[in-house]
Amino acid sequence: MTNKEARLEEVRQFLPQWLEESRKEAASGEVASYIPELSKASHTALGIHLLDIQGDSASAGDCGMSFTLQSISKVFTLILALIDNGEDAVFERVGMEPTGDNFNSMLKLELVRPGIPFNPLINAGAITISSMIKGATPEEKSARILDFFRRLSGGSPLKVNEAVYRSEFETGNLNRSIAYFLVENGVLNGSVEEVLSIYFRHCSIEATCRDLARMALILAGDGTDPLSGENLIPRRYVQIAKTFMITCGMYNASGEFAIKAGLPAKSGVSGGILTFVPGALGIGVVGPALNAKGNSSAGVHLIERLSQRMDWSLF
Ligand code: GLN
Repeated sequence: MTNKEARLEEVRQFLPQWLEESRKEAASGEVASYIPELSKASHTALGIHLLDIQGDSASAGDCGMSFTLQSISKVFTLILALIDNGEDAVFERVGMEPTGDNFNSMLKLELVRPGIPFNPLINAGAITISSMIKGATPEEKSARILDFFRRLSGGSPLKVNEAVYRSEFETGNLNRSIAYFLVENGVLNGSVEEVLSIYFRHCSIEATCRDLARMALILAGDGTDPLSGENLIPRRYVQIAKTFMITCGMYNASGEFAIKAGLPAKSGVSGGILTFVPGALGIGVVGPALNAKGNSSAGVHLIERLSQRMDWSLF
């Protein structure tokens, strides 16, 4: 635990104005369209919700908007795979290093032997992790993931956005290529279509900024829900997830984000960002227009500014 404080009273004073200033950053971004259903999101939307360990909250902008978790879900499927299989088994199949490549790149799978994904937050790693979730059938595995996410969100009735799921299932040929390559390398066992259905389903779980902030609060509490006192994740697994969020959570902008905001974070192509100040608060942001690195343009701007002003950086 750090001695960082949330100081939400202070945040509330400037948040609405800062959010409107950050919203302008959306103009330079693009809404993701490679999953056709995602392109329907508002280009200029921006919302934020902050929730501290006392249960106090602050929010601004389009914080009621729902969006799919996309890559944000990878943090929590990693944690569930660690709970299901233990650390050794997980790291036999995925590495611990950033790639410097795009999240959906296959480059290093072929270039660097023995062909295991570099980390669990790139698509190759997350698809491998999906295959390690316990359950007798793909449906049971997906149901366990959804149930775990609901518990982390404080009982929010999260559900899969079926239109986004179908849209990605129908067009996800790059992910299919990655999965077949993993099978060829002996990293992935079983049916590619079944594993992809689990992966696409957890990427398509729909949430609000409040849900993200609530899930992030569990990480801020080192795995114990600060509001109920219940332990939901072993502390060691939060430590692992948190480290990956710092080193690879914001794709190839993770170094820059660590310097400018200094917080563990994970973004998704829907424009969501989940971040937190350890020991103090959880934060959920959405802004669908993405910058060249694939992170929410306006969302990154707002979090960096907030963190600098509030001195939240861990470093
Ligand atoms: N479901 C998305 C994909 O596989 C997740 C990617 C992301 O959010 N970066 O492409």
